[in-house]
Parts: sequence; C-alpha cells; structure tokens
Amino acid sequence: VTAPQRPPVIWLSGSACTGCTESLLRPSHPSLEHLILDLISLDYNETLNAGAGHQAEAALQDSIHKNAGKFILVVEGAIPVKDGGVYCMIGGKPFSEIVRDTAAKAAAVVAIGSCASWGGVAAAKPNPTGCIGAPEFLKGKTVVTIPGCPPNAYNFLSTVIHFLTFKKLPALDEKGRPKFAYGRLIHENCERRPHFDAGRFALKFGDDGHRKGYCLYKLGCKGPMTFANCPAILFNDVGPGAWPVGTGHPCFGCTEEGVGFTLPLHAQA
Ligand code: SF4
Ligand code: SF4
Repeated sequence: VTAPQRPPVIWLSGSACTGCTESLLRPSHPSLEHLILDLISLDYNETLNAGAGHQAEAALQDSIHKNAGKFILVVEGAIPVKDGGVYCMIGGKPFSEIVRDTAAKAAAVVAIGSCASWGGVAAAKPNPTGCIGAPEFLKGKTVVTIPGCPPNAYNFLSTVIHFLTFKKLPALDEKGRPKFAYGRLIHENCERRPHFDAGRFALKFGDDGHRKGYCLYKLGCKGPMTFANCPAILFNDVGPGAWPVGTGHPCFGCTEEGVGFTLPLHAQA
C-alpha cells in the first residue's frame, strides 16, 4: 500500500525580508513539523530547503514538472520588474521569470505578506527596483492575498487547508483577501474600543493613559481603517494581548495598501 501523496507546495521568495516565512514557523496547531512532514509536501522554500544551489533548483523544476496543475504556489516578497528583473536573480534567472513560469503551472497562487500583495516595504518610494505585487504581475489570474507585515500564519494555513479540503478557494474580497480573515475592521474587535467610545486616549507613549491601556488613536492607530482579524486570533499562540495594540503599539495598517507604512497621524501635520 502506498501512502497518499501529500499536496505539493512551492514557496518562492523574491524581494522579501523572510519575515513571512518566519511567521509560518511560529504556529503550534499545526506545528511546522506536522505541517511540512505530514500534511503538505513543501517542495521548495529557500529558507527551509534541505538542499542548496543546483540541488535545490533541480528539486523545484522536478516538482513543477511532476505536479503541473496540482501544486499550490506561494509567493513571498515583491517582484522587481525594472530593467528586466535583474534586481532579484535566483539560480541565474530573474525572480519575475521564475514566478511567471511557475504560476502558469500552479493549481492556485497565494501571495503571502504585504510585499507580495502589492509591493509593501519593497516598493516604498522611490521604488528603485520597480517592485510590484503578485496580483499586478500576474494580472488576469486569481491570486489570493494574505497581506500583513508579517502576515498571520493562521490566515495562510486556513486558506491552504480550505483549498485542500473543499478543492476551491475561500470567498475573497475585491483585493483577493479571504473574507473570513479580512472581513472586519481591527477597530471593531479591539479590546481598547470601550476607551475609544468613552473618549479616553493615550496622548504620548508612556503617559498615564498609555500605562492604563487607553485607546491609541491619538498615537496614530490605523485600526479604524484597517481590515484584519489580528485582535481576534492574535499572534504566535502566546496568550492574551499578543498583537501590536495589545502590547501598547498603535496598529500601523500593514494589511491595507495605502494605509500602512506611513507616519503616525500626529506626525504628518
Ligand atoms: Fe518581510 Fe513584511 Fe515583506 Fe513579509 S510582508 S517579506 S514580513 S517586509
Ligand atoms: Fe480602535 Fe486603535 Fe483605539 Fe483599538 S487602539 S479602539 S483599533 S483606534
């Protein structure tokens, strides 16, 4: 009797800081070892590959060839397209070319993190390498986006497991984000919301209001304009308060294009 084949996943990293992969290493249900040894076959991920160099590139081509039409492609990081894509070369090829060729044979494409979703930090002005996100690069193809910097690994894992279980993608919003994860504003589920409603705000880091856990809106919190489930599912399985606002830092809108990566409101005047 042969064991059932684990669903193949190919994970490509371009203009990235590796934070998205790091985020994948943190969950405990399933644990990383259960995920990659029992549930899926992670055929290529530059950070986690057992092999390196030619051996790793051969494993990638082998998986694409053997699993055409069956594998899930995950793109981490932005795709630099300026000057023919020379600003991110892997195994002698531009990353853009690798993404295009691999996506053409994938069953589904998932852009993990804000860089892969729309360019993120890598596309910050003046964007000298011409970084763009996977949906723009692969225009015309359905690309699921799991933005966040880093994204919450459970939103990624739930999307993959939904696809494997139901053989279809979860419902997506107009930006390609799964609605189960990005359907509500941070502000709707924030534990500091009663302070917002009562008009109790921290005005400076370390002031009395900040120490008492008051609302961080006046320190630049972007929770009222950011769709994500951070306050509901938290990060890294370490208990209550394990998300930015819970630790006393304003939400900086990392899951929303055009909202994140900007200065706090009071510093923009
Ligand atoms: Fe790093 Fe954030 Fe980009 Fe992920 S989205 S690669 S964590 S900068
Ligand atoms: Fe809303 Fe941010 Fe205040 Fe929470 S801390 S209630 S998300 S403004």
